Amino acid sequence: MSKKDMSTMDNETTKPNIAFIGLGNMGAPMAENLLKAGYALSVYDLSEEATQRLHKAGARVSDSPNDAANNAQVVISMLPAGQHVHAVYLGSDGTHGLLADLPKGTLVIDSSTIAAADAELVAKTATKLGINFLDAPVSGGTGGAIAGSLTFIVGGAAEAFSKAEPILAVMGKNVFHAGANGAGQVAKICNNMLLGILMAGTAEAINLGVKNGLDPKVLSDIMLQSSGRNWTLEVYNPYPNVLENVPSSNGYKGGFMSKLMQKDLNLALQTAQDTGVETPMGAKATELYESHVVEHGDRDFSSIMGRHDSSVL
Ligand code: NAD
Repeated sequence: MSKKDMSTMDNETTKPNIAFIGLGNMGAPMAENLLKAGYALSVYDLSEEATQRLHKAGARVSDSPNDAANNAQVVISMLPAGQHVHAVYLGSDGTHGLLADLPKGTLVIDSSTIAAADAELVAKTATKLGINFLDAPVSGGTGGAIAGSLTFIVGGAAEAFSKAEPILAVMGKNVFHAGANGAGQVAKICNNMLLGILMAGTAEAINLGVKNGLDPKVLSDIMLQSSGRNWTLEVYNPYPNVLENVPSSNGYKGGFMSKLMQKDLNLALQTAQDTGVETPMGAKATELYESHVVEHGDRDFSSIMGRHDSSVL
């Protein structure tokens, strides 16, 4: 093998350095899985508690997104909402964010759930600067993030997607290319609108049974083997102590905060309005979560159960 072939191979087999920004309920376990797979990680989060967890796991802790990205060929972010993604990549004035500091050819993967239009704006700025941007929101919850079995739903250029795929495969079991930039976010909000409807409907059905004398576990087992079966019944039952190791059996702590579900439902509703599409069930689920988050925004989204039965909260 010639020296040139060797160096090409080295480049192909060497793992890129990764900067990971946003180490919350999802970002922390995703970053930990990259560390376990042997990637060198620099991390940044506004919360010191969050960075300390990753420091213990072997990451280099940085004091800014720019410091984290110094020497990184890949940047991954897992932030709450569009405004945080814009603040990190575009800066408060839209021009002095992290993108302006990255070398050409850097691969940027944003896994936050944000509006497709917000992702497209970051992608447009990145492209002008010669940076490859992918929107890559995820499905699978904190359980999937810990197990490395997330579903990634990616929007962006095919070449960038191929580069990202082996990295995403460390954190996920399924990696889909949905289309151009923004397509990942559109697919994700369709999924989460359905999830919000299913969670609200499952809580409502269990409550109807319990108020009519049924045991919530017995009822859940029956519906699991019947036509009402769905993901929330299978792995995320909203009634306490039906399933182990789910937020409802842990005071609705951790998991996917109700205020984030409300954000996603609003993103779906906005997209529906902008494109003249009717989503009456999505509108109802949004209404239910809007009132729920007034008091319970930080609790897991399965706490919508408490709308019917406040004793579970
Ligand atoms: P989270 O609130 O637990 O974590 C977000 C983290 O980002 C926090 O640690 C926060 O300190 C940090 N952060 C905020 N602004 C920052 C900034 N400017 N710079 C650096 N760090 C900053 O949220 P999460 O549950 O991890 O969700 C993250 C994203 O993933 C959201 O868009 C959410 O909708 C999506 N999502 C969550 C789940 C879930 O089950 N939790 C599932 C799928 C998708």
